[in-house]
Amino acid sequence: MDTKNTAIPADVAAHVLFHYGHKGIPAGDWHEALITLIARADMAHAAKLTNAFPDYGGAVLIAKYADNGIDLLKDIAAGRCTRCKHDDGPITPTGTCEPCAAPMPLDGVA
Ligand SMILES: [Zn+2]
Repeated sequence: MDTKNTAIPADVAAHVLFHYGHKGIPAGDWHEALITLIARADMAHAAKLTNAFPDYGGAVLIAKYADNGIDLLKDIAAGRCTRCKHDDGPITPTGTCEPCAAPMPLDGVA
């Protein structure tokens, strides 16, 4: 499942971090139930829920399955670039800062 291009807002990342016992922000009752539901779903149902709720679905799938998923969510929650870790933004919808999101020329010279 491709979670690379899923835009996850900082507050959603913080809600999912809190759900998994990390420093974050407690979600409201409905969103906490949604996180729990996605986290408990099998892959078929998780995919359906992620279609309907791409932000929460994407964040839960990153937390459960991505390498360093929790660190990735911590970066998103803190507004840090998920690639270079700088927090001087602006952050693009893919979670990286604009320089990191810009395509690198083939000769490697920007
Ligand atoms: Zn960056």
